Amino acid sequence: MTKPIRLVIFGRQGAGKGTQCVKLVEEFGVVHISTGDMLRSAVEEGTEMGLKAKAVMDAGNLVSDDIINGIVRERLDKDDIKASGFVLDGYPRTTTQAEALVQILGRDEIHAVIDLEVPLEEVTARMKARGRDDDTDEGIARRLELYEAETRPVLDWFDARGMLVTVNGLGAEAEITDRLIGAVATSLA
Ligand code: AMP
Repeated sequence: MTKPIRLVIFGRQGAGKGTQCVKLVEEFGVVHISTGDMLRSAVEEGTEMGLKAKAVMDAGNLVSDDIINGIVRERLDKDDIKASGFVLDGYPRTTTQAEALVQILGRDEIHAVIDLEVPLEEVTARMKARGRDDDTDEGIARRLELYEAETRPVLDWFDARGMLVTVNGLGAEAEITDRLIGAVATSLA
């Protein structure tokens, strides 16, 4: 059996992480873990946590580190993740979350940390066209602002450790997939 691969993918909302994660799952056999998808499921199911998260998400704010770290800790502890590895999408979004992730993983290394880079104007246009519940003008602006304020330092943190690879997220979908697969392969080498 091949060793499970552990990936983290960054990128502004609307950068196409979700679409590309499907390809990474196909290519590397990893499990896609999207904290946004997990929260949206909790909202749909109407769980207590989901009810609390909905207002925060609709305003474009970040769900508390404690809640999100708890969700991720539980998910990463499951057998499928241990066997197949993962691609983490939408987490960690703050330095507190990054520290929690390192603690959760313990000795398990992260094999590649990728920044799918798409310019601000382009992601704004894509989000406006997408029309998700939280894609109001205010929500979009707030999320992009928080990305710079809270998540950029996390990217810098991985970069300072020589772990970050930036991938150009503009172009045809298949081309971007090839770039991502290449970046992961290089990181694994
Ligand atoms: P996403 O699907 O990644 O765009 O996430 C949608 C929304 O879920 C975000 O705008 C946040 O409100 C919330 N969310 C997702 N992941 C996190 C996280 N790691 N930390 C805090 N809030 C999150």
